[in-house]
Amino acid sequence: MVSQTLLAGQRLLACDVDGVLTEGGIIYGSGNQESKVFSIKDGLGIRVATCSHFPVVWLARRSADAVARRAAELNVQLYQGESDKEAVLRRVAEQYGLALEAITYVGDDLDDLRPMGIAGLAVAVADAAPEVQAAADVVTRAPGGKGAVREVIELLFHAQERWDAALECYLDSLASPKAAHLLRA
Ligand SMILES: [Mg+2]
Repeated sequence: MVSQTLLAGQRLLACDVDGVLTEGGIIYGSGNQESKVFSIKDGLGIRVATCSHFPVVWLARRSADAVARRAAELNVQLYQGESDKEAVLRRVAEQYGLALEAITYVGDDLDDLRPMGIAGLAVAVADAAPEVQAAADVVTRAPGGKGAVREVIELLFHAQERWDAALECYLDSLASPKAAHLLRA
């Protein structure tokens, strides 16, 4: 059981992409086209988080236009095409002026072990590799691509007693005339 103090101290959510924000499948189309399936529930959770200025960043080892498109749609910072995720996570901490202890990292496979090892809170999705689950402080109930990230956001926000305010912020943003893009959560 992870401590409330640890949950309360988290200030940024870093997520692996393949296997965490997706189920891990990649559809190969003609040419270089790749398709991926993202969860709308995760997307909405991310919107709630960023609405209350809680940064969410994505780290993807593989580069894909589909991921860039989804990240842009959700206004999350995307670091892709870099194999050393530990180095990327250290850079994220520096760029956001945060201690690594204040960063939550969500992963599913072996290439996530190193960044999980330096993050304040290490989370594995329900269908993560056994080594990744063993290294995690928290294992989500939901598998990757099926609301696991939403679950982590709700866990952190309830522990920090900011869920209700963040939800209000999101709902207010939907009512604003500038919110047309948010409808595509
Ligand atoms: Mg992965």
